Amino acid sequence: MKINTTCVQGGYTPGNGEPRQIPIIQSTTFKYDTSEDMGKLFDLEASGYFYTRLQNPTNDFVAAKIAQMEGGTAAMLTSSGQAANFFALFNICQCGDHIVSSSSIYGGTYNLIAVTMKRMGIDVTFVPPTATEEELNAAFQENTKAMFGETIANPALTVLDIEKFAKAAHAHGVPLIVDNTFATPVNCRPFEWGADIVTHSTTKYMDGHGAAVGGAIVDSGKFDWGAHAEKYPGLCTPDESYHGVTYVERFGLEGAFITKCTTQLMRDLGSIQSPQNAFLLNLGLESLHVRMQRHCENGLAVAEFLSKHPKVAYVNYCDLPGDAYHELAKKYLPKGSCGVVSFGLKGGRAAAEAFMKELKIAAIETHVADARTCCLNPATSTHRQMNDEQLKEAGVPAELIRISCGIEDKEDLIGDLAQALEACH
Ligand SMILES: *Cc1c(COP(=O)(O)O)cnc(C)c1O
Repeated sequence: MKINTTCVQGGYTPGNGEPRQIPIIQSTTFKYDTSEDMGKLFDLEASGYFYTRLQNPTNDFVAAKIAQMEGGTAAMLTSSGQAANFFALFNICQCGDHIVSSSSIYGGTYNLIAVTMKRMGIDVTFVPPTATEEELNAAFQENTKAMFGETIANPALTVLDIEKFAKAAHAHGVPLIVDNTFATPVNCRPFEWGADIVTHSTTKYMDGHGAAVGGAIVDSGKFDWGAHAEKYPGLCTPDESYHGVTYVERFGLEGAFITKCTTQLMRDLGSIQSPQNAFLLNLGLESLHVRMQRHCENGLAVAEFLSKHPKVAYVNYCDLPGDAYHELAKKYLPKGSCGVVSFGLKGGRAAAEAFMKELKIAAIETHVADARTCCLNPATSTHRQMNDEQLKEAGVPAELIRISCGIEDKEDLIGDLAQALEACH
């Protein structure tokens, strides 16, 4: 099946007389006739459901669709994108370990890795997305267990050279984890370029309607944990907290990572997506391929308009020829990148504030990747605690405006920007 068909029909094939739409199994628990039947589930000898914190049929159908969309072997849903990235990393890292991460990542993930995981004894080395092979190799240590990056970074809009990062990761016997939230599998499938694990904030384009916070983790099934067994004892030696099961032996490379993440991390940390939200997420997935096309068309039209406007100092959008990431975008995102564009006005921070006040269609929101166009000035909102110097270092200078182009008519969006640029002084 091509991705357009998988978006609509993947993950769930009803039998004769069964519901056409994925049913919402809004039940915390499941009933069994005998204790023996249930015991087999706990021993992982039979597959089935017993408690929604571990698994739920609605969630599993939607996760299976996302696994097919990414070309992976297994997937799981989480309550948020933050939980997805934390689980993906914590599933293979523990106190005393180390992560190599691109420095150009979502602020929440940066904080998760640089502050919260550091408190758990997990260290990190950040590398710029433009680092050379040599610089990447120099960032690895004996105790490095994972490498991390974002296909298109939020909000810096840098494009990850996935092949280069994967090569460095594999040369040091560790997997590359890629957050594919902005590109979505419609525009980029990181596994085809060597990534091993993919994560998503499904809150963004996958849901696409600003309706449900959620996340997902997908495994390519390609990373050979057994070949680096000394680094990954959690996957390659018996789990005493789960009946002595050795995940790689019992579930193979295709299932070990997600099974461990479910039976250990979801069991103990409990960040499950509600079945109701998984249902809403699936409605979003059904039209993702159609929406992404329009988001990209509108993004490009808006970026082109802004880049020619006399009041605009610069525009970041990798589909624009001349953008610093245009060559990487042509390679990894041939169908287009996403609907998010960032730009700066010549009048700086004050001009940004005056301009945004005049917008009528684009709403000011802490959100991106919604069907409705929205915009944000990070310096006065999400990055408010930083001074101008720190903002520049983080790649979000004070005047930067991030606009997430929705799926409205592009002439209306350009008209709105034009009148706001006209009105602001
Ligand atoms: C929003 C976002 C996250 C966090 O996701 P939540 O669903 O808000 O928890 C992680 N990564 C990227 C790239 C994001 O844009």
